[in-house]
Amino acid sequence: QTFEEFGFAEPLSRALTQCGYTTPTPIQVQALPPQLAGRDLLGMAETGSGKTATFLLPILNKIATDAIEPGWKQVVALILAPTRELAVQIDQEVAKLSRNMNIRRAVVLGGVSKGPQINALKRGVHVLVATPGRLLDHVNMRSCDLSGVQTLVIDEADRMFDMGFIRDINKIVSLIPQKRRTALFSATMPTEIKKFAYDILHDPYRVDL
Ligand code: AMP
Repeated sequence: QTFEEFGFAEPLSRALTQCGYTTPTPIQVQALPPQLAGRDLLGMAETGSGKTATFLLPILNKIATDAIEPGWKQVVALILAPTRELAVQIDQEVAKLSRNMNIRRAVVLGGVSKGPQINALKRGVHVLVATPGRLLDHVNMRSCDLSGVQTLVIDEADRMFDMGFIRDINKIVSLIPQKRRTALFSATMPTEIKKFAYDILHDPYRVDL
């Protein structure tokens, strides 16, 4: 199988070639078509499976296809990650895959100063990767507006729970329009995560590798 058959926008398929991604991984084969068709996703997957590109490719393809208006400043895609390390890794994958696209991205995480993050958010960010606590700080300070988010991703939901982020995430979800697409990934699926997932997902396609 190749990436050709997904029919990605030209800047994106060129980026895949440039990154040396020739063959989609099993989770990509399963989870890309339903997401590209607009469905929510519940994915049981671990790091190393290619899950980051699994949720980024539909986001970037939509942005490439819709074409962002010049001057558009709102966040259109929000990706929540439990740790700084994971958030930085995801942002690096956004950079790789969006290399031929004229979009702005940023990563917002705790433990570093807010100033540069506020400046980036003011300039306008299209794809935002964030840890929940710091994102809420920005929302409360009015330096981040989530009312234009079209796609929400929650990565490593089980770790989010373990780290006590559930209240923050519920708050963030409440600030995002109901009319959105959502993808949730977790390495494990205990009852509490499943319940949470089905609360925020709409008729999700399930991938369990
Ligand atoms: P992840 O599971 O998202 O952390 O991805 C693991 C690694 O695989 C990352 O370094 C990705 O850049 C890489 N990767 C993801 N998808 C593909 C693919 N289809 N072909 C080759 N490498 C990939």
